[in-house]
Amino acid sequence: MVVQSMTCTDTRDIGATVHQIKRLKDAGCEIVRVAVPDQDAARALSDIRKQIDIPIIADIHFNYRLALDAMMHGVEGIRVNPGNIAKEKMLMVVASAKAHGTVIRIGINAGSLEKDILKKYRGPTASALVESAMNNLAFFQDAGHDAIKLSVKSSDVTTMIEAYRELSSKTDCPLHLGVTEAGSIVNAAIKSSIGIGILLHEGIGDTIRVSITGDPVSEIGVAYGILRALGIRRVGPDIISCPTCGRCEIDLFTLTREVEEKVTGMKEYLKIALMGCIVNGPGEAAEADVGIAGGRGYGLLFKKGQIIKKVKEEEFTETLLNEIHTMVAERKET
Ligand code: SF4
Repeated sequence: MVVQSMTCTDTRDIGATVHQIKRLKDAGCEIVRVAVPDQDAARALSDIRKQIDIPIIADIHFNYRLALDAMMHGVEGIRVNPGNIAKEKMLMVVASAKAHGTVIRIGINAGSLEKDILKKYRGPTASALVESAMNNLAFFQDAGHDAIKLSVKSSDVTTMIEAYRELSSKTDCPLHLGVTEAGSIVNAAIKSSIGIGILLHEGIGDTIRVSITGDPVSEIGVAYGILRALGIRRVGPDIISCPTCGRCEIDLFTLTREVEEKVTGMKEYLKIALMGCIVNGPGEAAEADVGIAGGRGYGLLFKKGQIIKKVKEEEFTETLLNEIHTMVAERKET
């Protein structure tokens, strides 16, 4: 399962785009899509390509000339929305993709379906999205290009789930999952966790993108959170923290925020528990690799439910981080 994101920089600004892609890659992004709205942006792809080492997908939407330019400038994939591109132009795109070995993502969106399909289904229903995707897939395959990936995104979560289910029953073609226009981080995380999460749990999907209005780096954390929660990829820290209650006698909110900040970007999978009380904490978080359970002004450091030592409250974060780094280093040695 591959995690994808998209830059929000002006692609013509090579420095800013490369910088953002490097930040995305450091966070765990494995494929990056960039918008190519004009020929200057297409030309910039050569320089961007030289400075980064993850695959680039050029998003050209409806402009076949930009697709041809982007492929000439060395991208690994292009994303097209073929609904509004004439077939003879698409054949030129296919010929170039075959010559360059470029993957084509056919990105069907509820907002840009072919008019006849919209009329037939009386709107952008799941079946309408699937029919458009299958028609376009057949066109590309008939033209002799099999390096295809499909997406049938919608901003409506249930439509998106139904569409991908139906699509996966009709083709073995790789599927790219996402909920479009999902909103800022809380809404996007909820919608993507439900939409992408349900499909992944059913074994549907090959690449995912969590769309967030904001810094795209935040998309990566949510994407891996979904994969971790489903046990699909164990990457990065999994922080378990209790909601606190009347038994809590430490500042768990600050501790959680501090630990989250410090472990952001960590690649190793580790379950870290931050629990408000020593009565229930170590037992409730027994499956955690390491954790702190708070008492009055002190806490207990525990590993896999076993208490290791008593720690003063002001030393919680430092003690926990030292323990985390030691555990990660030990794992690397074995
Ligand atoms: Fe309350 Fe303790 Fe449970 Fe946290 S771990 S919710 S403080 S009982």
